[in-house]
Amino acid sequence: MKKVFILGAGLSGLSLAYHLQKRKIVCQIFEREKEIGGLASSKQISGFYLDHAGHLLHFKHKRIFSFVKGLLGNSLIKHKRNASIYSFRRFVPYPFQVSLFALPQKIKEDCLKGFIEAKEKNFVINNFQDWIMKEFGKGIARYFMVPYNQKLWQHDLHDIALDWVNWSIPKPDLEDVINGALGIKNRQFGYNPVFFYPREGGIGLFPESFPVSGKRLFNQSAEKIDLKKHCVLLNNGEVIRYRWLLSTMPLHRLVLSLKDPPGWLLSACKKLEYVSVLNINLGIDRPDVLPFHWVYFPEEDKPFYRIGCPSNFSRTVAPKGTTSLFMEISLKPDQNHDIAALTRECIESLKKCKILRPEDKIVSMYPILLEYAYVIYNSARSATVKKIHAYLNRHHIYSFGRYGSWIYSSMEDAVLEGKSNAERVIQISG
Ligand SMILES: Cc1cc2nc3c(=O)[nH]c(=O)nc-3n(C[C@H](O)[C@H](O)[C@H](O)COP(=O)(O)OP(=O)(O)OC[C@H]3O[C@@H](n4cnc5c(N)ncnc54)[C@H](O)[C@@H]3O)c2cc1C
Repeated sequence: MKKVFILGAGLSGLSLAYHLQKRKIVCQIFEREKEIGGLASSKQISGFYLDHAGHLLHFKHKRIFSFVKGLLGNSLIKHKRNASIYSFRRFVPYPFQVSLFALPQKIKEDCLKGFIEAKEKNFVINNFQDWIMKEFGKGIARYFMVPYNQKLWQHDLHDIALDWVNWSIPKPDLEDVINGALGIKNRQFGYNPVFFYPREGGIGLFPESFPVSGKRLFNQSAEKIDLKKHCVLLNNGEVIRYRWLLSTMPLHRLVLSLKDPPGWLLSACKKLEYVSVLNINLGIDRPDVLPFHWVYFPEEDKPFYRIGCPSNFSRTVAPKGTTSLFMEISLKPDQNHDIAALTRECIESLKKCKILRPEDKIVSMYPILLEYAYVIYNSARSATVKKIHAYLNRHHIYSFGRYGSWIYSSMEDAVLEGKSNAERVIQISG
C-alpha cells in the first residue's frame, strides 16, 4: 500500500496517524505551523502558558477518556465547573435558564412567565431563533439566549439550523426552571459539569503526548492541489503525488486551493460561512482576579462573549502571584479589525465589571487570532458540505476534523474522527 498523506497535525490528524500506525500503515503529516496541536496547542510567553482560547477536556465516550488518561495519566486535574454569566451587573450561575433566582425580580418574572407561556404554545420550528423561543420563551430569549448567540455567531439566528443545539445547550424542563428561580439546584446541566485539564503546561500537553512516531513535516503547508494530477504543491515549492490525501485543513480553504475548480464548487464554497475569534490573553499582577473558570457576557456593551481564567484550570500556567485571563471576541472574517483598540475596549470593560481594579497592572498581553473558529450552521451548510465532500472523495481527498468536516465539535470528537478516518483508509485501500 502507498503512503497516506495527512494535511494538518491538529488532534484529528494526529489521531488518524496514530490509528494508521497501529495498523502498520505508513503516513506522513504536513503541518503549516512550526508545532503540532493546531487549535489545541499552547504557547509559553513571559512565564504564562497560553492556549488558543479556553480548551477543556470533557468526554462523552468512556473509551476516549481511558485513551486520554492513558496518555496523560496523573497529569490530568479534574474540575467541577464553576461558570457564570455576567448580566444586570451581577454574576449569575451557569446555566442562566436554571439560575433565575440570581436575577432582578422583574427579569426573573419575565423569564419565568415566558417559559411557562412557551410550554403552552404550539410552535413551528424552522431555525435556531424559533427553537430558542419554543424551548426558553420570550424572557430567557431576550435577556440571554438571543443576545449571547448573536454576539457569538455574528449571524441572523433565523438562518441558523438546529443540528448542533441538542448536545451543546442545556434544555431544562419546567420543574428545573422553577427550582432555578427558587435557588434550588438538584441536578447537573450541560456537557461539561466536570472537566479535565493538564496539571502543567497548558492544553498543548495533550497533542504533544500523542504516541505518533515517524516524520512530521512542520512549516509545510499545502498551497495548491491539482486534482487531475493527484499532486499537492507545498509552500517550499516541493510537489507531492498522493494516492489518498487526508485533509484537516479548513474545507473552505481547501476548496480555494484547488487548481481550476468548477464554477459550482466555488459558488458552493461561498456558502461555507464562519466566524473568527480574537482571543486576547492577559497576565495580571494579582492572584485570584476571578473566582470562576469562565464567564459568558451576553450584553452588547462588552466586546467579548466569554472570558476565562486559565490560572484557575491549573496554578502552573501563570507565575506565582499572578492571574491569567483570556477574552474571546467573535469577529466577521471579512472585516478589518483594530486589535489594539479592541484590546483597550476589553480592558475597560473588565474594569467596568469590577473584575480588574484600577491599580491592577497588566504584565503580559498576547492576542491570538483564530481565523476559522466557529463554522456557521447556516441553512445551506449540511447539503453544501455533503456535495463538496462527495466531489473531493471522487478525487481521493478525504476532508475531516472540526474544519474539514465543517462542524462544531470538541477535542474528543477530533480523536474519534481520526479513528473513523483510519478505518475508512483501511477499507478503501483494500
Ligand atoms: C474558541 C474555541 C474554544 C474551544 N474550546 C474547546 C474546549 O473547551 N474543549 C474541547 O474539547 N474543544 C474545544 N474547541 C474545539 C477544539 O479545538 C477542536 O475540536 C480540535 O482541536 C480540532 O482539531 P482538528 O485537528 O480537527 O483541527 P485543528 O486543530 O484546526 O488542526 C488542523 C491543523 O491543520 C493545519 N493546517 C491548516 N491548513 C493547512 C495547510 N494548508 N497545510 C498543512 N497544514 C494545514 C493547522 O495549522 C492545524 O494544525 C474549541 C474551539 C474553539 C475555536
